[in-house]
Amino acid sequence: MSYVKSLKCRECGRTYPKKPIYVCEWCFGPLEVVYDYKRIKKVLTREKISSREKNLWRYKELLPIDKEPMVGLNSGFTPFFEAKNLSKVLGAKKIFIKDDSVNHPTLSFKDRVVAVALSKAKEFGFKTVACASTGNLANSVSSHSKQAGFNCYVFIPANLEKSKIVSSLIYGVNLIAVDGNYDDVNRLCGEIASKYKWAFVNVNLRPYYAEGSKTYGFEIVEQLGWRVPKHIIVPAASGSLLTKIYKGIKEFKQLGLIKKSDTKFHIAQADGCSPIVSALKQNCDIIKPVKPNTIAKSLAIGNPADGFYVIDIVKKTGGFGEVATDEEIVEGIKLLAETEGIFTETAGGVTVAVCKKLVESKKISKDEEIVICITGNGLKTQEAVENKIGRPIKIKPNIKSFEEEVRVWL
Ligand SMILES: *Cc1c(COP(=O)(O)O)cnc(C)c1O
Ligand SMILES: [Zn+2]
Repeated sequence: MSYVKSLKCRECGRTYPKKPIYVCEWCFGPLEVVYDYKRIKKVLTREKISSREKNLWRYKELLPIDKEPMVGLNSGFTPFFEAKNLSKVLGAKKIFIKDDSVNHPTLSFKDRVVAVALSKAKEFGFKTVACASTGNLANSVSSHSKQAGFNCYVFIPANLEKSKIVSSLIYGVNLIAVDGNYDDVNRLCGEIASKYKWAFVNVNLRPYYAEGSKTYGFEIVEQLGWRVPKHIIVPAASGSLLTKIYKGIKEFKQLGLIKKSDTKFHIAQADGCSPIVSALKQNCDIIKPVKPNTIAKSLAIGNPADGFYVIDIVKKTGGFGEVATDEEIVEGIKLLAETEGIFTETAGGVTVAVCKKLVESKKISKDEEIVICITGNGLKTQEAVENKIGRPIKIKPNIKSFEEEVRVWL
């Protein structure tokens, strides 16, 4: 039972059949999935969604599969909660956290997109999957590919964090470290994808893959009690996540599942790789590619595929773009850890730092509800903080040494 009608070019509107294709032959615009919302409206209610299992497939009518889901059956439905301590420190009334740092099974929001892409790869009958990754996608494709029984090739920039390399290799996949940055990796993968009959999750399966990100937004709305927040702050690499949270909220409105969809979208990037925020700040629709130089490697895409659409959404919803320097990223990671007990990766540090700046500069009113998107786990980017935190206090195994070396509070 499928509610997917076709693929459609975002630019010229030409439609295409449901195949592993991603770019319009006429205008080179990106292809997007089109659904039959009339039919979905007849079957999908709040009650129906709420009664289903707590994973991202509870929204399956709004995901681009034709059969039952086959991969990533435990991904999604991550914690969402009010961050009271963080709100207090930042002087904001109510900040909420959507916490994909504990997504199953590889601790980032990429488990959502991979669940959808590999379910689709199964439907298409592919035997081999692949991806171009800034790290978290590599981990998620590696893990899910084994569980689902695919051959797997994962391409990464060679300078990734050690933990992101280990967390791919452990699954016994082919990990290819390219001597170059992500944009080089991505260009190479475009070439490889046109030569080999593989399911490249973020190349020829990109229209399907990207839809998985909508579930991050669906969950925020459901977990907030079927309504939208006033503000949402989203970290951006290619910009896909932000555009899909927006699309998801619009779909909920169209289906009558929520009344209002007036969220302001704010984008967070690292100062060392901020092509989208720079364009926004210069009030320019054309994005100038940059050479990334930041500790936030998961966000280090210098030539963002969805940047243009991000700018459109941020502008029309009344949001802002802001950046975080490497130092501010580390401060953001520590702030979230010390207030809410959550250890996020560098991308989360960017988001927290940008939230702080937007509240301080009054671009976001401190009296309005804010959702921050925590998208990855700090255990994977330990080198970003390891020299900027305390040290263990070394003692001998006796009480005298303990009392001499440690300041004891009662
Ligand atoms: C990939 C990634 C993002 C951004 O993804 P895009 O959809 O490409 O903008 C954000 N946070 C983390 C942790 C990621 O791995
Ligand atoms: Zn087109």
